[in-house]
Amino acid sequence: MKVLVINCGSSSLKYQLIDSETEQVLAKGLCERIGIEGGMLSHTPAGKEKIETSVDMPDHVKAVELVLQSLTDKENGVIDSLEDIDAVGHRIVHGGESFAEATLITDEVIKAIEECNDLAPLHNPANLIGISSCKKLMPNTPMVGVFDTAFHQTMPKKAYLYGIPYEYYEKYKVRRYGFHGTSHSYVSKRAAEILHKDPREFKVIVCHLGNGASISAVKNGECVDTSMGLTPLEGLFMGTRSGDLDPAILEFICNKENISISEMTNILNKKSGVLGLSGLSSDFRDLIEARDKGNERAKTTLEAYAYRVAKYIGAYTAAMNGTDAIVFTAGIGENNKDVRQMVGDYLTYMGTGVDRGKNETRGEEAIISPGAARIPILVVPTNEELAIAKETVALVS
Ligand code: AMP
Repeated sequence: MKVLVINCGSSSLKYQLIDSETEQVLAKGLCERIGIEGGMLSHTPAGKEKIETSVDMPDHVKAVELVLQSLTDKENGVIDSLEDIDAVGHRIVHGGESFAEATLITDEVIKAIEECNDLAPLHNPANLIGISSCKKLMPNTPMVGVFDTAFHQTMPKKAYLYGIPYEYYEKYKVRRYGFHGTSHSYVSKRAAEILHKDPREFKVIVCHLGNGASISAVKNGECVDTSMGLTPLEGLFMGTRSGDLDPAILEFICNKENISISEMTNILNKKSGVLGLSGLSSDFRDLIEARDKGNERAKTTLEAYAYRVAKYIGAYTAAMNGTDAIVFTAGIGENNKDVRQMVGDYLTYMGTGVDRGKNETRGEEAIISPGAARIPILVVPTNEELAIAKETVALVS
């Protein structure tokens, strides 16, 4: 089956057309600056150069129209007609408590997604626009919603409740949801396959370390805890997000700086994390370079980052009464050997660590712990689009 995977943001739209049998990406691309002047469409057919076109896209319908034109284009297209697209898989950020798995999109499902808008006001409305735009242009093609939160719905109450008055959970559904679920699900299954383990009898800690970052504890194929919370702000330090902090800091800084809660929340989302701490960059490549040139703040930032990852690994080992494997994935986890090494150096108490030689790997599946390690440490590149395509096929067929 050919599945079009759509990841729609408020002003951007990423897509991949995937052949689910061969797992090949037939074409992929990105629409940027939708609804803003200076729109840009980039389209890369498999095995060919990227084609960039400046084109204004007043709305998402126009963007989807251009994507479909690119896919069916005589010269740079990869299919003959829209009929060749068997299904569309939409990435949806927040499914609240309504969606514990991927779901065929119907009018009722759209309503239920709308009801989660409060929980992800920046993302869910954009995801819904992506759905309605595709429906307009491909009314007869089945569509599936794949939720970032769904995989984490198996968490027990003790893991997802916050220590605040219970009525906030009852009235407003304030609780831990977790994100990057498609990645945690895919990577945990893949790790079991690589180690020849039955995923139903396998405990694994997945460290998804990208610009956004989260860790999860997966026991017997089910998520039992994860570091992101009601929103993707909780947990690890990230590129620009603060992660965990004392909630009283908000009022303290608001008073000192005479700023509002929403300004402070914006700072916690966009100006904090490794960018805020280092004062340099949200990109780990810049931080490593600066550290190697003697920049003390870059060094401290990297140390603080690795320390927090290691603390979560310790916590989740306790949560599962041990773990059978630890996995690194996403931009930093797949590519940044320094961060992996620094985290690994904390894990000798578990009888494991990162082997310097084996850690010289980038962007490929690998076992990076020494052969004699009690708990294997792996690198497993994530592939959220392929996971979305697979979930879509499973529902449509
Ligand atoms: P993601 O959000 O998964 O795309 O991850 C983005 C992060 O991955 C950035 O902080 C990058 O610094 C990091 N990253 C990507 N490629 C590399 C690389 N080749 N070496 C080191 N870090 C990398």
